[in-house]
Amino acid sequence: MRSMLISRRDLDFLLYDWLLIEELPKRERFAEHSRETFDAVLELCEQLATRFFANHNKKSDAHEPTFDGKVVSVIPEVKQALDAVAAADVIAMAMDEGLGGAQLPVAVAQAAYAWFAAANVSTAGYLMLTMANANLLATFGTAEQIETFVKPMLAGRFSGTMALSETQAGSSLADITTRAEPQPDGSYRLFGSKMWISGAEHEMTENIVNLVLAKIPGGPPGTKGISLFSVPKYLIGDGGRIGPRNDIVLVGLNHKMGQRGITNTVLNFGDGSFQPGGEPGAVGYLVGEAHRGLAYMFTMMNEARLGVGMGAVALGYTGYLKSLEYARQRPQGRPATSKDPAAAQIPIIEHADVRRMLLAQKAYVEGGLGLLLYCAKLVDLQHSAESDDERDTAQMLLDILTPVAKSWPSQWCLAANDLAIQVHGGYGYSREYDVEQHYRDNRLNPIHEGTHGIQSLDLLGRKVTHRDGANLHALDQVIVATVAAARRSGGEPAADGDLLESAWQRLVGVTAAMFAAGDIESAMANSALYLEAFGHIVIAWIWLEQLLAAEGRAGDFYDGKRQAARFFFRYELPKVAPQLDLLESLDRTTLEMRESWF
Ligand SMILES: Cc1cc2nc3c(=O)[nH]c(=O)nc-3n(C[C@H](O)[C@H](O)[C@H](O)COP(=O)(O)OP(=O)(O)OC[C@H]3O[C@@H](n4cnc5c(N)ncnc54)[C@H](O)[C@@H]3O)c2cc1C
Repeated sequence: MRSMLISRRDLDFLLYDWLLIEELPKRERFAEHSRETFDAVLELCEQLATRFFANHNKKSDAHEPTFDGKVVSVIPEVKQALDAVAAADVIAMAMDEGLGGAQLPVAVAQAAYAWFAAANVSTAGYLMLTMANANLLATFGTAEQIETFVKPMLAGRFSGTMALSETQAGSSLADITTRAEPQPDGSYRLFGSKMWISGAEHEMTENIVNLVLAKIPGGPPGTKGISLFSVPKYLIGDGGRIGPRNDIVLVGLNHKMGQRGITNTVLNFGDGSFQPGGEPGAVGYLVGEAHRGLAYMFTMMNEARLGVGMGAVALGYTGYLKSLEYARQRPQGRPATSKDPAAAQIPIIEHADVRRMLLAQKAYVEGGLGLLLYCAKLVDLQHSAESDDERDTAQMLLDILTPVAKSWPSQWCLAANDLAIQVHGGYGYSREYDVEQHYRDNRLNPIHEGTHGIQSLDLLGRKVTHRDGANLHALDQVIVATVAAARRSGGEPAADGDLLESAWQRLVGVTAAMFAAGDIESAMANSALYLEAFGHIVIAWIWLEQLLAAEGRAGDFYDGKRQAARFFFRYELPKVAPQLDLLESLDRTTLEMRESWF
């Protein structure tokens, strides 16, 4: 039976026909692997996702975690799912063999993760946070921290959280006030409050390892004074035994629009509710050096942002497949040219406007999936680079593409969920069908891990200008190479190559013009529009790449790829021209709007 989560056929096309992932085992880091092991992992994760994650997606939405003042209860299926992935060694799949990982390419691990996110993004959230936490500690932590925290997380005994945000400090982490007081034994005591922390407080694992950003008194102001601490729910005794409760308490659970199955918490650190060692204060252990916490967090945040982008794609993808299935089965109306009211009704997929909505979803989700897998392969090239040049190029491409890979799917795969509801008509607006939940679940993605606005400032203010535009130049080189390949191919790819080249050159010219005027305030005022135009051009490039990979191949699957590429070039890419005009004019409408005029 065809999966309603992700198309395995599409994953195979992107990973093998386009990205040539089976070449990676020629590199030392992946030498233990082969196409067979990659296929086995994808197969396994599809089965686990279908059996243990999709089974309670609606239930965990309807029965969100509850707190009785002492204990948080989560429906039992969530623990069963987390135990199943731990038993299958999925948590450590991309990590180093030295840590007990399987050292799989990140491209394969991301594709595998997409199954879990499509099946149940809330339960997959516990998994993603634990992976990100373990990855960070494995990179920057001490051997003891790896032994004490990372290994139990990889085994599924402990879970992890990322505790950055505070009530008054979300986008602006410089303003956090949680403080960490140094102790004579080298540990720290933390005092403060954290807001929005996902995956904290539950009874599903023996311990919860919180990675907490805090300031050590006397440190530099702003972001330069932020340090990172590992703060477990329970202290660890000799031989890894679970010790007394740390001074961390749950103030309450947040009640969300979507992603309701994962706990989201307000936590107090060091309010004296628990007194480890007879004193108030949450015991924490410094990770890496003092005052470098945000830099460590940002190193890992790039991978976390790819994870968010992939989550957005996965939700868009499953909504697309479900609306496609619905459109094939729902009879309604007759052909526009039919005058006979007695004729049988036709399935709605026969209506051109419904096909438009399905094609748009296909173009968004398969385009987004392509971008995410391309970025994941860049991480693999970085990890296994055979020269400094190769590593630098992969790094520059990742730098410039990460804000797009996080934001574009968060905007357009959410738009795909919106269209999936529309294809369902009134039924899409009811809770009996899945698509309204996918929309609510996906709505988080433009907000967390850096909002849409913050990503756009990052792209235009940092990534594009970095090292005199070196990142932009690296992207220019790969786009120019694709256009050249399309021209060699002739026909439709060559025509699309011309369209892509002209949009890309215009973007490069507009970027230069925006900075040439020296009016940074006006340039940055429309950064979100810039991100949108940039993202659409990048996805047009990804579609041209897919079109080239489908060249000379016959059959419905490849014809579908060609039609979706055609749709993107005809219906979507033209949207960027007026956006680029506005950007070039350094329009000040938003800047000049006064607060009192609203
Ligand atoms: C369900 C959920 C789960 C979360 N999970 C976690 C978690 O596990 N760990 C964690 O640490 N945090 C988590 N967060 C917090 C999340 O990362 C923040 O909500 C996010 O960073 C935005 O911060 P904020 O809510 O304070 O909004 P604000 O920062 O107040 O932003 C509000 C609006 O103002 C805009 N804005 C703010 N500053 C600027 C600026 N300088 N320039 C232009 N526009 C600006 C934003 O783009 C946004 O549109 C979660 C949030 C939610 C809702």
